[in-house]
Amino acid sequence: MSGPGKRFEKKFRAGVLGATGMVGQRFVRMLENHPWFELADLAASERSSGKRYSDVVKWHLDSPVPEVARELVVKDLAPNLDCDFVFSALDSSVAGTAEEEFARAGYPVLSNSKNHRMEADVPLLIPEVNASHLDAIPVQQKNRGYEGGFIVTNPNCSTAGLVLVLKPLADAFGLEKIFVVTMQAVSGAGYPGVASLDILGNVVPFISGEEEKMEAEPQKLLGKWDGARFIEAGLGISAHCNRVPVRDGHTECVSLSLKKIASIHEVAEVLRDFAVDDEMASLPTAVRNPIVVVDEENRPQPRRDVDAGHGMAAVVGRIRECSLLDVKLTLLSHNLVRGAAGAAVLNAELLASRGFLHYRGVAKPSVAEPVAR
Ligand code: NAP
Repeated sequence: MSGPGKRFEKKFRAGVLGATGMVGQRFVRMLENHPWFELADLAASERSSGKRYSDVVKWHLDSPVPEVARELVVKDLAPNLDCDFVFSALDSSVAGTAEEEFARAGYPVLSNSKNHRMEADVPLLIPEVNASHLDAIPVQQKNRGYEGGFIVTNPNCSTAGLVLVLKPLADAFGLEKIFVVTMQAVSGAGYPGVASLDILGNVVPFISGEEEKMEAEPQKLLGKWDGARFIEAGLGISAHCNRVPVRDGHTECVSLSLKKIASIHEVAEVLRDFAVDDEMASLPTAVRNPIVVVDEENRPQPRRDVDAGHGMAAVVGRIRECSLLDVKLTLLSHNLVRGAAGAAVLNAELLASRGFLHYRGVAKPSVAEPVAR
């Protein structure tokens, strides 16, 4: 991980909506010892609210429930949490309204849910891809009458890895068509998710709404904010999405056509050389090279490669010529880190770095880690 490159007066206090779920737990763990943020408050459904987090959460991670979260009492979704901003890992049945209420109450909302991603004034953000889309925030606040609050979203878990890999290719060669087939992990379905009898020894060739998201979200992510609206990238995209009996990590087989002729060697070099700028590299969760190219003919594999770059890298292998389009490759990314909690934490870090986060109300002081440049 890159070092913390900023010095703040004190840590920003983060709340987590949907803190008991698969993504919510990742937030709770990622906020433990975060140099810029501290976990301050938690919320979930009526099933959990009013109870101690450690009593109510079905913890799925290998390390124990962080000390800072154990004794916190889970709250309901009333927009009055004791924090400066919120991460949302809410089920989409409630995320839409709840996130709007928090934004209207003045909280920056970093959302994982699908509800607001494609709205005309909401940034759908991958910092390494489209940081300039943050310019939509003042327009959103004006449109909606939000004072201080706003909503920023991160993409669907399978789109996140795909677009990270498409970005340097779009910049170097231009993109025309993308054909992608996914093999998506069961943790992408939340908890309890897909029943074991449906998925063990099986492949389910349908994930509700997933193909539509994969075909729409890259258009916005790789498109432009023109000062008033998002202009879509105009790509031809066809996606097939499958659930497979893998715990974590979405694998994607991608064929694509380029606007400029390029050799396989040039494509591999562009992916291998993709590095973020100094501003991005200074964000604590960023990795300088967020694409890892592997040469072995049988990689990437979820069990071996899913944690590359602390789960923030996309791993690419099998780059070769495609007899229908121009190039084909296989990529893997961690659906709960790069595709969910890690994505939103990185988004929040970019917002903090650019001055979009503010301290709300009275908080007990805590000192941010000193800068280690
Ligand atoms: P999950 O494990 O099912 O967790 C859902 C969370 O929402 C739980 O904390 C749950 O609280 C809360 N919730 C459900 N109904 C609620 C209600 N009526 N009021 C308040 N809270 C409620 O789901 P997940 O996989 O973590 O996904 C969370 C969100 O992130 C979803 O929108 C999902 O589409 C998106 N996402 C998931 C992934 C992934 O890989 N899993 C990746 C990207 C985006 P209780 O425990 O109290 O019921």
